[in-house]
Amino acid sequence: MAQLRARPARLLTASVWGSGALLGVILIQFVTGWGTQLQAGMINDLAYLPVTLLTAALGLRMILKDGLDRRERRAWMLLEVSFVCQVVAHAVALTQHFLPGLPPYPSVSDYLYTAAIPFVFAGVLMLPVARRSGVEHLKLLIDSLIVVAGACMALWYLEIGPLMQTPGADPMLIVFSTAVPVLDLLLVFALITLLLQRPQAGAAVGLLSGAVALKVVADSTYTIAYVQFGVAFRPGDWPFVLWAASAFLMLLAVHRRLRQDSLTQGERQGRGRLGWLPYGAVVLACGLLAFVARQQAVYPLGGMVFGAIVLTALVIARQMFAQRENRRLAVTDPLTGLSNRALIGERLAELTRQPLRDDRHGAVLLIDLDRFKPINDAYGHEAGDAVLKAVATALRAVIRSGDTAGRLGGDEFAVVLPALPSREAAESIAQRLVDALRTPVIFGDLVLGVEASIGVAFRDETTTDIEQLIAHADAAMYAVKRTGRGRYRVYTPELDTNARDAELRRAVEKDELVVHFQPVVDLADGGPMAVEALVRWNHPTRGLLMPGAFIDLAEETGAVIPIGEWVLRDACRQAAGWRAGNPGAEGVRLSVNLSPRQVMQAGLVDTIRGILAETGFPADRLVLELTESVILQPDEQTVARLTALREMGIGISVDDFGTGYAALSYLRALPVSVLKIDRSFVTGIDTDPDAYAVAEALVRLAQAYRLHVVAEGIESAGQARCLIDMGCGFGQGYYFARPMPGADLAALLASRRTTRTAVTAA
Ligand code: C2E
Ligand code: MG
Ligand code: MG
Repeated sequence: MAQLRARPARLLTASVWGSGALLGVILIQFVTGWGTQLQAGMINDLAYLPVTLLTAALGLRMILKDGLDRRERRAWMLLEVSFVCQVVAHAVALTQHFLPGLPPYPSVSDYLYTAAIPFVFAGVLMLPVARRSGVEHLKLLIDSLIVVAGACMALWYLEIGPLMQTPGADPMLIVFSTAVPVLDLLLVFALITLLLQRPQAGAAVGLLSGAVALKVVADSTYTIAYVQFGVAFRPGDWPFVLWAASAFLMLLAVHRRLRQDSLTQGERQGRGRLGWLPYGAVVLACGLLAFVARQQAVYPLGGMVFGAIVLTALVIARQMFAQRENRRLAVTDPLTGLSNRALIGERLAELTRQPLRDDRHGAVLLIDLDRFKPINDAYGHEAGDAVLKAVATALRAVIRSGDTAGRLGGDEFAVVLPALPSREAAESIAQRLVDALRTPVIFGDLVLGVEASIGVAFRDETTTDIEQLIAHADAAMYAVKRTGRGRYRVYTPELDTNARDAELRRAVEKDELVVHFQPVVDLADGGPMAVEALVRWNHPTRGLLMPGAFIDLAEETGAVIPIGEWVLRDACRQAAGWRAGNPGAEGVRLSVNLSPRQVMQAGLVDTIRGILAETGFPADRLVLELTESVILQPDEQTVARLTALREMGIGISVDDFGTGYAALSYLRALPVSVLKIDRSFVTGIDTDPDAYAVAEALVRLAQAYRLHVVAEGIESAGQARCLIDMGCGFGQGYYFARPMPGADLAALLASRRTTRTAVTAA
C-alpha cells in the first residue's frame, strides 16, 4: 500500500526535475550562444511550456488539497490564475514565432505576462500569517514601505523617469513599459512583507520568495539595460536565465508545499535575521542619492542632499539606540536589574541548542531563597526587596562575563553558565553562591538572614529541551529543600521525583522492601506488650535505606499507598507466624504506621479487613498509628473510617504526639486509644527539670483522656525511670531494643526475657 502511494510521489518528483532540466536548455543557450534569434526564441518558449503547465497542474492540486487553511486556499487560487496566465502567455508566444513577421511590442503574450503579476502580488500577501497585534501590523507595514520606497527611488531614477522622458514615444507604449516596473514594486512590497513576517518559514515559502525575487531582478535588469544603455536583451541572454530559474523555483515551491504538512515549520514571532532589510533599503537609497547628486554644485542641492543623508543616518542611529534600550527594558527585571524570565528562557534555548563538546560544559543553576517569605511577612515588602537586591548583587559578583543571572519571579533566581571548562567549575560557582548568599542583609536596624537552596543541572544528551533542563535543576533544588536547605546539589536521575516514584513502586513489586520490628515494652517489667512495624528499603545499589530517605517522597507521590498496604500485609503475616509458634506471644500487639494518604483512602477499611482475613491476624491485636496531621483535620469520612476500624477491635494510636498542633478537642471526638509521646519530649527528662515537667504534663493529659501512653525514643535507664515515676505505662526505644528483622524479634519473644532485667536494675 505504502509502496503504491510512494510510486506516484516519486514519479511527480521526477517530472518536476525533468521539466527543470528542460529549462536547462536556456542556460545552455546562454553559455554557448547557440542558434539564431528565432530559434532561440522558440526554444525558450518551448522549454517553458512543461514547467508552467506542471506548475499550473500542481497549483490546482494545491487548491484541492485536504485540510488547507481557508486563507491559504484563496492565496493558491490567486497564484493559480498567475500560473495559467504564464502558460497561455508562453503558448501564445510560441505560436507567434510561426506567424509571419514579429508582432509589435507589446504583444498579447507581453500583456499576459504583465497580467500575471497582480495575482502573484495578491496571492503572496494572502498567505496566512501568525496572529499579530495592530501595532505589530503597523510596524510591519512601515518596514515594508521603507524597503519599497528605497526600491521606488532606484526604479524612478533608473527606469521609470527615463522611460517617461523618451522623446516622441507612443503614450500607450510608455504606460505599458512603466506598468512592469510599477507592478514589480508591488511584488517587492509583497515579498518584503512575506520575508519580514516569516523569518522561520518552511522551505516552500523560501522557494516562493526566491522565485519572486529572481523575477523582479530579471525584469528590472532587462528594462534598465534597455533604458540606460540601449541594450535590448534577446532570448539566450542572461535575464532569460533568471526568468527561467524563477519559473523553476515557483514550480519547486508548489511541489514542496504539496508535500509539506503546513506552510510554516517552527514558525516564530519576530524578525529573525531579516530585521536589517529596512535599514539596507535606506542605505541603498542614500547611496543612490549621493551618486545622483555628485555632479550637483555644493550649493544649494549638493549640500542639502549631503545634509539629508547625514540626518537620515543620525535618525537611524537614534532609532537603533532606542531599539536597544527597549530590548534592554523588555529583558530586565526592574527590581534587581538582573535578566528577567524571558531572557533566561532565551539563554536556556541557546544552551540546549549548543552542540555538546568535551571541553565546554553548559549548566543551569536554579536558586530558591530559604526563609524569604517570613522576612517579607514580618518586616514588609521593602525588607523583602532589599534582600532580593542583595541577592542580585551577590549573583553579579560571582558569575563571569558570558554567564547570565536572572530572576524568574518571587524569590527564585537562575544562572545560565553556557561555557564552563569542567563540571567542577559549575559546582565551585554554586558553592561560592551558597556562601555569598549566606551573608546577612542589613536593612535599617534589622539583620536579615537568608540562605539559598541551589539545584544544578548540566546540559547533556538527555537535556535536549528547556523544560527538561529546568526540571532537572528543579529536582536537584527540591532535593536540597527536603534535606536541609542552604546547600547546592547536582542533579542525578535518583532525584527525579517521577523516576524515584517509579523506582519506589517497582521496589514494592520486586520485593525490595523489608519490615523491621521494634518492641514496645511495659515499663513496669520490661515485658514486650507490642511491636511496631517499621519499613526499610533494601535498595539494590544504595543498601538498606531508612524510611526517612523515601517515605516523604512516597507520601508526596502517592507511592505510600501500595507501600503501606504491603507493610501491613507483611507485618500481619509475620506476626501471625510468631503467634502460631509461640503461645506466649499471643497477647503482643502489632503497631503499624498509616500515612495520611492511606487514611484518606475510601477503601481503607475493606483493605484492612481483607488483609486480616488473608493473614489470619486478629483485629483486636492490631494498632494503627496515625500522625497528628490526620487528627488535626479529620473530615466526616475519616472519622467514619476510624470508627469502623475501632469497632472491628483495632486500636488507633496518635504517633509523635506533641510535634504537630493536634487540637486537643479532637482527642475526645476521635476513637483514639493510645498516645505516643514523641521522642523530642523524652530527650533530657532525666537531666532537665523543665523537660521533665513538660513530659509529665503530656502523660497527665493522656491519662485525663483515658488513653494508654507510650513514650518514644527512650535511650537510657534514667529516662525509663523518670517515665515510670510520671505514671507512663509503656515505652519504646533503643534502650530496650532497636528495630530488628522479624526472625530476631520472633526469637526475642520466644525467650520473653527482653530487657526486664535492665529496667529493674535501673
Ligand atoms: P515513628 O513511627 O515515630 O517510628 C519511630 C522511629 O523512631 C523509628 O525510626 C525508630 O527506629 C526510631 N526510634 C525508636 N527508638 C529510638 C531511640 O531510642 N532513639 C532514636 N533516635 N530513634 C528511635 P524509623 O524506623 O527511621 O522510622 C521513621 C518514621 O518513618 C516513623 O516514625 C514513621 O513515621 C515512618 N515510617 C516507618 N515505617 C513506616 C510505614 O510502614 N508506613 C508509614 N506510613 N510510615 C512509616
Ligand atoms: Mg510510629
Ligand atoms: Mg513516632
